[in-house]
Amino acid sequence: PLVLGIETSCDETGIGIVRGTRLLSNTIASSMEEHARYGGVVPEVAARAHLDELVPAINAAVAEAGIRLDDLDAIAVTCGPGLSGALMVGVGAAKALALSLGKPIYAVNHLVGHVGADLLRTGANSHEEPLDYPTIALLVSGGHTSLLLVRDLTSDVELLGETIDDAAGEAFDKVARVLGMLYPGGPRIDAAALTGDATAIRFPRGLSKHKDMEKHRYDFSFSGLKTSVARWVEQREDAGEPVPVNDVAASFREAVVDTLLTKAVAACVDYDVPRLLLGGGVIANARLREVAIERTDAAGIALRIPPLSLCTDNGAMIAALGAQLIMAGHNPSAPDFGADSTLPVSQIQV
Ligand code: ATP
Ligand code: MG
Ligand code: FE
Repeated sequence: PLVLGIETSCDETGIGIVRGTRLLSNTIASSMEEHARYGGVVPEVAARAHLDELVPAINAAVAEAGIRLDDLDAIAVTCGPGLSGALMVGVGAAKALALSLGKPIYAVNHLVGHVGADLLRTGANSHEEPLDYPTIALLVSGGHTSLLLVRDLTSDVELLGETIDDAAGEAFDKVARVLGMLYPGGPRIDAAALTGDATAIRFPRGLSKHKDMEKHRYDFSFSGLKTSVARWVEQREDAGEPVPVNDVAASFREAVVDTLLTKAVAACVDYDVPRLLLGGGVIANARLREVAIERTDAAGIALRIPPLSLCTDNGAMIAALGAQLIMAGHNPSAPDFGADSTLPVSQIQV
């Protein structure tokens, strides 16, 4: 099926067009720069940017795919989780488009969309087979840190664990601020860490102590780590000593990466699922990719990292999930669905 996907859950306005698992176009406009001076995504600003960008993005995606809107079999749209106002702009646009074209609409879960990104084939990866199910998926971005057990993309996704406070990307952004770096902090910390010593400082691995592991085996916590970095830097400054920014960046990055992959690999082992899929904007992190390859190799786990343009928020993954739902025989969504900022991951379609 030919499906157009609309993604507006955070600061990316994403429009993607797919035919089944074939990627035809993936247009992304981000309001990231507008948020820079606030040090994080401002919901109202993001929602207004979606309103500006949506129609140009749809036109660009349609032109690039070389299709006519009339040719579409369906519209797919992210209806949650995410920022409420931002989601509503995309949902409103999807409903208007579906109504005017007389096409069915599939309202889908953003996080499951990230998993669906692996199905998409382009020139670059057209020879690769997508991952089999069941698979474990680790999704890490500015808004999410989730570990999923995906038994079937269109009917069975289970949340194993998630962050109980800050998301991993959020931790990168907050620690960057402590180190005097601009937003977004992830790429800047990654660059500084290149010349830093990751073993210089032993920062805490959240929820990894024995007593935490009983209740929070697959959960994450990064706010204690952020506080620990801030305190370490403060003590240096109070003592009038220089702060070794690159060592702090490398040691912090190591703590995040170690925690993420220790828990992800544990889930693969515990559930006897030798497949791990990564997704979300933090996957751009060089050390995360490196350690993911090392540890999955050592444990005999097949690792899948989609191209970065499909790891960050995009419309193509939403279109891909919509196409899968159609192929699996699911009905379109009822026309009165809304946006749900806290939609649970087990609810694949609304
Ligand atoms: P959502 O949570 O809804 O998926 P988002 O906009 O918060 O969306 P993304 O756009 O996927 O998330 O990713 C942005 C986040 O990724 C930011 O927090 C940014 O600091 C982080 N990030 C980007 N590059 C890197 C990197 N190289 N290392 C670590 N973090 C990174
Ligand atoms: Mg973003
Ligand atoms: Fe996302």
